[in-house]
This record gives sequence, structure tokens and C-alpha cells, in this order.
Amino acid sequence: MTQTTALLRAASFAATKHRRQRRKDPEASPYINHPLAVAQLLATVGGVTDVVLLQAALLHDTIEDTETTAEELEREFGAEVRVLVEEVTDDMSLPRAERKRRQIERAPHVSPRAQQLKIADHASNLDDLGLDAPVTWSMEKRNSYVAWSLQVIAGCRGVNAALEAHYDEAVKRAKSRLARQV
Ligand code: ZN
Repeated sequence: MTQTTALLRAASFAATKHRRQRRKDPEASPYINHPLAVAQLLATVGGVTDVVLLQAALLHDTIEDTETTAEELEREFGAEVRVLVEEVTDDMSLPRAERKRRQIERAPHVSPRAQQLKIADHASNLDDLGLDAPVTWSMEKRNSYVAWSLQVIAGCRGVNAALEAHYDEAVKRAKSRLARQV
């Protein structure tokens, strides 16, 4: 299988799995836009050509947010992709606050691939936060998302300078937009 085919298979698999989900932004845009944006950020800003990482980016929310199992990902895309997606998947049996705390704790100990994926994921979420924030999110929730994100990404530094610079810009943009919305 060529790398191009491998990537397109992951995009198509993720699109099918997320087909009934919408983002919480005011337009309720299709969920798949998010994993596509994360993969694109890694490739264009981060200069990532590692197909395992790009596939994992496309698939990063499938275990957490759809009925996809880790075994299914391994069967379809191999063990490396499975492990990487698992590294960025929260244990949904835990309460939200505990999941958030664990992400901060675990970030420095996951693989450099998972750290890059987290940086791109957070940059994409921060960009959405200013422009298309979840309609139900209060200002306080938006501000605390930024503060929490900075703590998680502090544990992921040193893996991809271009991506980190892009993330820092996304933080600045989100903060200034949030400041204007108060
Ligand atoms: Zn995500």
C-alpha cells in the first residue's frame, strides 16, 4: 500500500466513524473537520511526513468519541497507529476533572509523536475557541480551557519547534479574542 493510500484510508475510516457527530460550534460543523485540521497542521506547519503520525492524527478521536476499539485500529492500520491513538485517548470512565488532571500529568511521558499530536490538537482547538467556540461554553470555561491547555503543552515541548511556535501564536490569538469578548 502506498503512503498516500494509507492516509486516505485513515481519512475515510475517520469520516465514517464520525459521520453522525457535529462540532459544538455555532454552525454545528461536521466533526471530521477537526481531525482533518489537526493532520493538516502537522503536515503543513510541523513539516511532518511520518505517515503513522498523520494517520493517528486523522484517527485521534475515534476511540474516545465513537464506538471504535483499539483492536479495530490495529487490524486496519497496524500496532503503531493503535498505540499512538491510545496515547492521546482519555479514559472516559473517569470524571472530566480527573481526565484533565491526568492529561497534564501524562504529557511529559508520552512518545514524541504523541506530543506533536497533542500540540497540533490543542492549537486547532484554541483556534476554534476564539472563532467558533462551543455555543454552550461560558467565558469562564473558555478561559480555563486556555490555562489548562498551557499546562498540558508545557509537558510536550522540545519535539517540534515550528509546531510549538504555531501553538504559542494560537494561545495569543485565543487570549486576545477572549479578552475582547468579556
Ligand atoms: Zn482532537
